[in-house]
Amino acid sequence: MGEFELIRNFFAAAPCAQGGEGVALGIGDDCALLAVPPGEQLAISTDTLVAGVHFADPCDPFLLGQRSLAVAVSDLAAMGAAPIAFTLALTLPTVTTDWLGAFARGLNLMAQNCGVALVGGDTTRGPLSLTMTVFGRVPAGLALTRSGAQPGDLLCVGGELGNGAGALPLVLGQRMAEAAIADPLRAHYWSPQPQLGLGMALRGKATAALDISDGLLADCGHIALASKVGVQVERSKLPLSKALLAFLGQSGAEQAALSGGDDYVLAFTLPPAELPSLLADGWPIHVLGRVVAGQGVTLLDADGHDITPPIRGYQHFRETP
Ligand code: ADP
Ligand code: MG
Repeated sequence: MGEFELIRNFFAAAPCAQGGEGVALGIGDDCALLAVPPGEQLAISTDTLVAGVHFADPCDPFLLGQRSLAVAVSDLAAMGAAPIAFTLALTLPTVTTDWLGAFARGLNLMAQNCGVALVGGDTTRGPLSLTMTVFGRVPAGLALTRSGAQPGDLLCVGGELGNGAGALPLVLGQRMAEAAIADPLRAHYWSPQPQLGLGMALRGKATAALDISDGLLADCGHIALASKVGVQVERSKLPLSKALLAFLGQSGAEQAALSGGDDYVLAFTLPPAELPSLLADGWPIHVLGRVVAGQGVTLLDADGHDITPPIRGYQHFRETP
């Protein structure tokens, strides 16, 4: 099968590639064309996933398709953007119909679940890697950036933390657990749900936001730095799932929540007056700290003592000491 047949069979023919709101022209020309309504801005983000670095090789191609798009779309949620479209640059060592079929099915499922249309890409031969670029739209001035947190704001997250990192030993086959524990953790890892609805609900309310990909403490550090404030996290308020606690125990689960990556849950800062109406609307918001004058991230125990560990989110190219 040649490059063009591959594109046609697996991608151009996929239900998610048949256009959608905001897509003026999809796959097949030199560029796709997107329509952004007047008064709105285009939000764009790119993520690359490399075999052996970001996912185990080999892994289940259906789950890989699902997860790689979810991770990319999560950045739109973090900006409060409504999803429009995405492109896929796929590098493959060999063409296997079974692999491509399963990958495209997983990708398509997540695309339809998130409401994003596949509008283009590139297909090349080489070591397995995927690059996805997502496009969304947000009313001008209402995007949720990292830089607006104010002393007095609450620090909030949109769901339980640590499940993604907690699942890793299961995903890598290093540990086993009974189904009641393993299934929800694996599901969280392979099919994170981008918090698009929450992101849009936070427009004009949250003062700063991001999606947690490198661990709560490291990611709160990004808000602290961009907003020129301090962020305090209370360990006793970490929302931890039953499955994670059963798998790793209290301190292991806390560790996964604080320093593990892969959660793709939103973290945001919120003036206290904004909280009641968001809770009344049913958003799963957990308050776990606050913004203060100063800098950096501080972890506090139940007595208010500083128990901040060295913060080390994963960074490519950093020399390990
Ligand atoms: P060009 O040579 O103009 O860059 P290509 O031959 O690479 O175009 O691609 C032809 C069309 O197929 C383009 O519209 C491109 O966006 C699309 N395309 C290529 N690879 C993929 C892919 N993996 N998924 C979706 N669309 C793709
Ligand atoms: Mg090309």
